[in-house]
Amino acid sequence: MMALLFGPPGVGKGTQADLLAKNGRFTKFSTGDMLREEVASKSSLGYQITDFLDRGVLVPDNIISTLAQQFIENHTKENILLDGFPRNLNQAQTLTDDLKAMMLSLDVAIEMHLDEIELIKRLMNRRYCPKCNKIYNYVTNPPRKDQLCDICGTALVKRSDDDESVIRRRLDVYDKETRPLVDYYVSHSIYRRVDATGSQETVYRKISSILDAHIN
Ligand code: AMP
Repeated sequence: MMALLFGPPGVGKGTQADLLAKNGRFTKFSTGDMLREEVASKSSLGYQITDFLDRGVLVPDNIISTLAQQFIENHTKENILLDGFPRNLNQAQTLTDDLKAMMLSLDVAIEMHLDEIELIKRLMNRRYCPKCNKIYNYVTNPPRKDQLCDICGTALVKRSDDDESVIRRRLDVYDKETRPLVDYYVSHSIYRRVDATGSQETVYRKISSILDAHIN
C-alpha cells in the first residue's frame, strides 16, 4: 500500500508522517529529511542542493525522482508513506509511470490544509533535532527541557529555510508548483483533503481513519 501526504510548508506533514512511521504502520519516505541529511553529510550531492534549500525553491526533478525510485524499489513489500514527494506535476507523472513499471500504484493522496497566518506562525516557532530529526514547536509542541531534544538531548536548531522571506517564497512555490497536484489526484480518484487545524492527535486520527480504509 502506498500513500502520499502533501500540503504547504508548516502544515505538519512531517510530524504526522513521523507519528505514522513510529507506530510501525508505514515506512516513511521524506524527500525534505533526505535532502537535509545529504547537505549535513557534506557530500557532493549535498553541495549541489544546499542553494535550492536555502532559497526555498524546488530541487531539480531528476535528482528527486532518482532518489524516490531507488527508495521505492528497495521497499516494495512495505506500506510506504510519501512525505513531500511528489511536489509538482512532472514528479507526479514520473512517479505514476515508475510505479506502473513496477506493477504498483499510489492508493491515496492526502492534502493537509491550514490557514496561511497559522502556517507562518507554526514555521516561525518550529525547531528540529539535527541528530534524530524530531520536530518541535515552541508554541504547540515544546521540548521538555528548553531547546534540547527529548529523545537524544541534542540542541535543537531552526531550519535555515524557516526564515520569514524564505517562508514566503516556499508558500508561493507551493501555490504555483504543488497545488496543481490536487486536480491531478482528483482526476485519478485518489484525492482526500484533511483540515489540519487542532492538535496533533486530532489530525492524526483523521489521517489514520483514511489510511485504515486502504490497508488490508
Ligand atoms: P520540506 O522538508 O518537505 O519542507 O522540504 C524542504 C525543502 O526541500 C523544500 O523547500 C525544497 O527545497 C526541497 N524539497 C523537498 N522535497 C522536494 C521535492 N519533492 N522536490 C523538490 N524539492 C524538494
